[in-house]
Amino acid sequence: MPIEPERRDMRKLLRAPTGAVDLAAIEPKSTPGLPDEADDDPKSWAREQVTAIGEHLSELQERLYAESKGGGRRRFLLVLQAMDCGGKDGTVRKVAGTMNPQGLRVVAFGAPTQSELKHPFLWRIRRALPSAGLIGVFNRSHYEDVLIVKVHGLVPANVLAARYDEINRFEAEQAREGLTILKVMLHISRNEQAKRLASRLADPTKRWKYNPADLAERARWDDYHAAYETALARCNSDDAPWYVVPADRKWYRDWAVANLLWETLDDLEPHYPKPDFDPSEELRKLAATT
Ligand code: ATP
Ligand code: MG
Repeated sequence: MPIEPERRDMRKLLRAPTGAVDLAAIEPKSTPGLPDEADDDPKSWAREQVTAIGEHLSELQERLYAESKGGGRRRFLLVLQAMDCGGKDGTVRKVAGTMNPQGLRVVAFGAPTQSELKHPFLWRIRRALPSAGLIGVFNRSHYEDVLIVKVHGLVPANVLAARYDEINRFEAEQAREGLTILKVMLHISRNEQAKRLASRLADPTKRWKYNPADLAERARWDDYHAAYETALARCNSDDAPWYVVPADRKWYRDWAVANLLWETLDDLEPHYPKPDFDPSEELRKLAATT
């Protein structure tokens, strides 16, 4: 029998603190909000819940899409950020994957191309935003422009410093134009990253995901964390809140993100549009054709 998941208010538990953020204070193995009923076999419990929440996500997405067909302009964006091996791809597959691919726009951001670099950093981001009725998923995002760019000093300090406010203005402007933004940092430990990198190397079917340059980034772990802490502190508005999801346990990560999506989408109450025809009249006409 299909189970009916409970709404839990995970947004309260996982919202990045306002003011200074200390990632070291958030345990990547922790499982905030996991109920006692999950204790026997948390992994299977969480997987079953994700499937059930997925049914709700699917329906909400369809309603958002239908709403746009009636002229609605609302749209949704899930931003996923993480250190390498943080589980962004897994989250896209397991959580976003519960929804109809036609209603999704998934975009991964790598290092900008030469032609992208000729434009302001938000240029390629604007072009990738979901249109009305769609749910966008960003696998990395404009935050790379204050993360890797900060760690490697890719732009002058004053340019970098201005970006936090630029991002806030951009997100507020998008929110006014009907975009609901949910930003999630998947928070893994340094040890977990080592394990995942090792398993990429050990498994011939995963080696393609490994990049020798990943080790140079790993060596800058503390700098990355400092850059994340600044980004989370500076760009955590109610228009576009940040959530930190402990992500060493993949099943918890998926369950937590599924809940965040569900709560946020459900609050939007997307509605099917009223038909601009009379269904009984149409039925009568249809009957006349048979
Ligand atoms: P995985 O976590 O599975 O390794 P990934 O997201 O790292 O996947 P890759 O194609 O390996 O995917 O890496 C994308 C790279 O592009 C990352 O190192 C990221 O920091 C970099 N990148 C993304 N946006 C920018 C940017 N604006 N400026 C510079 N580098 C960027
Ligand atoms: Mg990578």
